[in-house]
Amino acid sequence: MTYSTRFQKSIKDPLLFNVLKPGSNNKKLGFKITTPKWKGKRLYSLTLVERETCPTSCHHWKDCYGNNMPFAHRFSTIGLLPKIEEEIQTLSKKHKEGIVIRLHVLGDFMTTEYVTFWERMLFVHPTLCIFGYTGREETGDIGKALWLMNTRYNDRCKIRFSRNKAFSEGHYPSNLFAAEESFTGKCFDCPEQKGTLPSCAQCGLCWGVPKTVRFATH
Ligand code: SF4
Repeated sequence: MTYSTRFQKSIKDPLLFNVLKPGSNNKKLGFKITTPKWKGKRLYSLTLVERETCPTSCHHWKDCYGNNMPFAHRFSTIGLLPKIEEEIQTLSKKHKEGIVIRLHVLGDFMTTEYVTFWERMLFVHPTLCIFGYTGREETGDIGKALWLMNTRYNDRCKIRFSRNKAFSEGHYPSNLFAAEESFTGKCFDCPEQKGTLPSCAQCGLCWGVPKTVRFATH
């Protein structure tokens, strides 16, 4: 059985659209980064197909955020990687301070090869930064590949592991985490959700501090 989005018509061919969307299209993200770390870079995002690319262990498998996003363009993985690479090249020339890509508004790292692709992008494009969240287990193959990428490109890569209330300690001490509102350990609440800052571009805590970020459950 193939698991996917409820909104099949929203799955788009990467060859027909820009897959990296400017943060100016998304109020929560914002565009020009004003925080000390990564200052001046422009924020873009990538949205994949929920469930198709996610671990079945995700505790939001049934009530995925994407269930309320019928109009969001989700990109098929067919032909995706060369298209991302082409767009990163173009955008890196356009924005001399470089770009930050938020992975993934929907979807997840689907294979270790896909993680390796992002590691190569970080190697080839010294002004590129990435941040985001994953539902992959720290100890699985994909989780370990993410740990390695976070470690090798520590200044420019911040992928946080999602944890629910059962979570107490991370497996690898250097990993970063994102938790839900039921989490009671050491953490800070997302300022954009709290209404104290307008956007990620003006906050930057997810890539600036090691503490666990806590989000309100959707
Ligand atoms: S804590 Fe800051 S950077 Fe992280 S999601 Fe919230 S607004 Fe964005």
